[in-house]
Amino acid sequence: MKLRIGQGYDIHPLKEGRPMILGGVSFDTPYGLDGHSDADALTHAICDSLLGAAGLEDIGHQFPNTDPRYKDIDSQELLREVVSKLGEKGFTIENIDATVVAEKPKIGSRIEEMKRRLSLSANISEEQIGIKATTNEELGAIGRGEGIAAYASCLIQKKPTSTWS
Ligand SMILES: [Zn+2]
Repeated sequence: MKLRIGQGYDIHPLKEGRPMILGGVSFDTPYGLDGHSDADALTHAICDSLLGAAGLEDIGHQFPNTDPRYKDIDSQELLREVVSKLGEKGFTIENIDATVVAEKPKIGSRIEEMKRRLSLSANISEEQIGIKATTNEELGAIGRGEGIAAYASCLIQKKPTSTWS
């Protein structure tokens, strides 16, 4: 069995009037993450970790922000497409672990929901996904609440092609 590790990072600015979506979960806030898609930084970091582990081009190449097809797109759709690209190359996901760095909103109580959403999109169980939330201790741009960043790691595996079947 061949294991491969991946890591991803993403950041989006917070803006008044934008929908606030993280890990596929909507927050009822007067502000949200700004970007071409729904700007779900957590899901984007996970996509990049999976693409990197598989040796594929990053999310910006796969889904260019100049392409109107991806305007305001639900990032769960992007994750589903990434997972299917991995499947085409014979990879399955062992686990995903992620950290969200956000001063606001408080996301701790929504983590289980995020795991559920992401596990459905990635076609794995909730137990294969870890999500932690932390603040930036009021330091820097994230600490001032100007944006939200996310880091993700993953392990994927490729089963050796059997010579018996
Ligand atoms: Zn992004």
